[in-house]
Amino acid sequence: MRLGKFELTTVSGGRFRTDGGTMFGVVPRVLWSRIFPVAEDNSIAQATNCVLVRTGSKTVLIDTGYGSKLSPRDKRNHQAEEGDPLLTSLAAAGVAADDIDVVLLSHLHFDHAGGCTRLDEAGKAVPTFPKAEYVAQRMEWMYATAGFPELRGSYPQDNLLPLKESGQLRLVDGDVELIPGFRAIVTGGHTVGHSAIVIESEGETAIFLGDVCPTWRHLPALWCMGYDLDLLTLRRLKPKLFGEVADRQWWALSDHDPDHAAARLVRDDKREFAIVDMRPTL
Ligand SMILES: [Zn+2]
Repeated sequence: MRLGKFELTTVSGGRFRTDGGTMFGVVPRVLWSRIFPVAEDNSIAQATNCVLVRTGSKTVLIDTGYGSKLSPRDKRNHQAEEGDPLLTSLAAAGVAADDIDVVLLSHLHFDHAGGCTRLDEAGKAVPTFPKAEYVAQRMEWMYATAGFPELRGSYPQDNLLPLKESGQLRLVDGDVELIPGFRAIVTGGHTVGHSAIVIESEGETAIFLGDVCPTWRHLPALWCMGYDLDLLTLRRLKPKLFGEVADRQWWALSDHDPDHAAARLVRDDKREFAIVDMRPTL
């Protein structure tokens, strides 16, 4: 997709499956299962729709999927793809690991930051993109690396610490310009330092919503995930943020929707917001 002078491409960070109950939190199964195909084991399909942006001067990647370091057990539990789906998908778009200049991260959960690092021949986790600067919110980084035992499963440290050790990490605070044409909107809610990422070129705008709205079925303010830390924040934020996206006619980009990586939002009397102009990929 062309956005002003930028070229946007969906790159897959790997497909997987998650328990439908955890994806819809307090929403009753009888409601969500009507609109989301569910398997016998109660799992639903999930994508990791990372976004490659070629600005003309920089090659930028937003989020990195779950990467190639999952243990056999985790791979089985998540029904995750074998190999390195992110690098395979980047290669299909004509981009090598060396070509990535900047990695922007919505938050640091394993299914967004796992692809930041890979194992080298000696089995040591090293940055996947040797020439890239990695940009994350400071608040998110502090929580992710503080060693809280209750967050251990969400934030495997070998996805993160090698970025700091190699000097490739830049931490930012709040709603700031990340690099020209890209700015953060800190949303909180899903995680303490979660942010959406706004992409702007020549008056055209897209917003990578991250896990504020993991799939298009999560548009209603009350349809949150079991993984979300702060439901009240999200329920207050969603109508406000989606209203802005709809009224300004921005492209909305979904990180986990298995069918459509992009859509536009419109206000809808019955369901708050509806999606139009759906695109399977950018
Ligand atoms: Zn996620």
